[in-house]
Amino acid sequence: MMRKISDVLKEKERTYSFEFFLPRTPKGRNDLYGTVDVLKDLKPDFLSVTYRADQANRGLTTEIVDEFQESFGIPTMHHLTCVGHTEAELNAIIDKMREKNICNILALRGDPPQGVEHWEPTPGGLEYCYQLIELIRSRDDFFTIGVAGFPEGHIDSPDKETDSRYLKTKIDAGAEFVITQLFFDNRDYFGYVERLKRIGVSVRIIPGILPVTDYRKLLRFCQSLGSNIPQRVHDIFKPLDGDAEATYKAGVQFAVEQCNELLEGGAPGLHFYTLNKADLVQRVFEEIKR
Ligand code: FAD
Repeated sequence: MMRKISDVLKEKERTYSFEFFLPRTPKGRNDLYGTVDVLKDLKPDFLSVTYRADQANRGLTTEIVDEFQESFGIPTMHHLTCVGHTEAELNAIIDKMREKNICNILALRGDPPQGVEHWEPTPGGLEYCYQLIELIRSRDDFFTIGVAGFPEGHIDSPDKETDSRYLKTKIDAGAEFVITQLFFDNRDYFGYVERLKRIGVSVRIIPGILPVTDYRKLLRFCQSLGSNIPQRVHDIFKPLDGDAEATYKAGVQFAVEQCNELLEGGAPGLHFYTLNKADLVQRVFEEIKR
């Protein structure tokens, strides 16, 4: 059986992992294998592949996760969302994962399809992530389950305390670790960890890191996520807008400093949002004090 992330966490004080988004084209899929082929040499503890529930992509995450595990021998976490699925469909996907020896799941509610203002769960489906965890746990203990966490609070949450309580609901339902949304101010991460500790959450909170490659893309991306961009980030990257080489250098420097400060402050590893590119993450990874 492929290693469970829960076993890796028991063995190692810190883990390093790489996330890949689901490619949109056959070329993108092909390029992705080249990216992982480079990043595998950094010996990550696990990889992860995102999920999209739209009809065209059903089954694609499972296929790619299976191929990564077969080709690279690295545990690969399958993201899975409630959005767009009935409970019966979710059970069928989970059956398929089991058949393929995929035992690590990042359980998510998922983002509503673009343009939908008031999202309603699919009839016969699930509304919140904790229900997906309950569904997985009601079967057996084959799976290790991770969940998403939001150091700044989720965009739809009324406040950070409520958001933390909902996170605890996911842990109480059986999730074993947390991977955070990207953030650029480490005080958000450390404050989050403290808040969760106060309400009895003791699982690992692994910070999610996005090295900056493009100022304008960053603005759009953070707006869609509802993530804050601190003034310091604007000050560094705005004057470099349009200069890819200078942005790259500053992106490496910023991410290395951010990662070092997180690790020195006790973060139990790092999870990199690679955007399916090897180069920048590789540079950052090689420069941080692990
Ligand atoms: P939930 O925990 O269910 O929370 C959703 C909302 O409901 C929040 O506002 C929460 O505060 C509120 N809530 C939670 N529980 C309750 C409750 N009991 N009562 C009332 N309100 C409640 N999206 C994808 O589509 N595919 C991916 O592959 C993907 N990967 C991701 C990976 C990471 C590391 C992260 C951080 C996010 C990822 N997302 C992905 C985005 C994620 O699906 C969205 O941010 C989604 O809006 C929230 O998902 P969740 O699992 O945190 O949902």
